[in-house]
Amino acid sequence: MSAFLQCAGCKKILFAAEFEQNLRVCQYCGHHHRLPARDRILLTFDPDSFVEMDAELRSGNPLQFPDYQEKREAAEAKTGSFDSIVSGYAALGGVRVVTAVSDFAFMGGSMGSVAGEKITRTLERAAEERIPAVIFTTSGGARMQEGLLSLMQMAKTTAAVQRCNEAGAPYICVFTDPTMAGVLASYASVADVILAEPKALIGLAGARVSKQAGVSKIPDDFQTTEFVFNHGLIDRIVPRKELRNTLVSLVRMLGNAA
Ligand SMILES: [Zn+2]
Repeated sequence: MSAFLQCAGCKKILFAAEFEQNLRVCQYCGHHHRLPARDRILLTFDPDSFVEMDAELRSGNPLQFPDYQEKREAAEAKTGSFDSIVSGYAALGGVRVVTAVSDFAFMGGSMGSVAGEKITRTLERAAEERIPAVIFTTSGGARMQEGLLSLMQMAKTTAAVQRCNEAGAPYICVFTDPTMAGVLASYASVADVILAEPKALIGLAGARVSKQAGVSKIPDDFQTTEFVFNHGLIDRIVPRKELRNTLVSLVRMLGNAA
């Protein structure tokens, strides 16, 4: 990585080392840049507590979609994972939790059959052991290259949330930039507690699709964390540097109740 980079929000030049130390948040405008899943895990959970599960799950190319295999292989090389979700057990302030973290660098964090299966297993482990599930989203939605098999994951993951509810296992979801479409419209928005990072893009259809559908008059802050917070979709906006402490308090409160 070079010593300098440009903020995606205010376009000011930032020192890379300082930027990393600041958890990839711009010191001038507060823009939260995307984090790789494995970095997110390191800065969220108790040191050395993360034990990865289901890392071997890897998608085939069920529809023989052109270029899918090549795209996936490039994403694997970039992220060191076989799909867009990294999941496993971890601890937060000493409380055992299960977690799944989405990685935007893997095909836009899209949900195909592997991501859906990993989310489902994460929620089922929470239900079985009656421990909190903490899930971080960043995704453009369902993965086009797996067609209906991707859409099926919406129903499957949502049903797994229901099993958590029945078992009394708390489920916390943290929306990060962007949380869209098939992910927002399934397991993400039915969490018990929903937190979101500031100014993340959150919505069902992106600006381009909305425009194509003939929607012309939309508010400036439409599909931002702040807009959906004001309209009651999320419980709290939490800056990245406060996220770990907020999650620790939540699992200590909710984890004991399970
Ligand atoms: Zn900035």
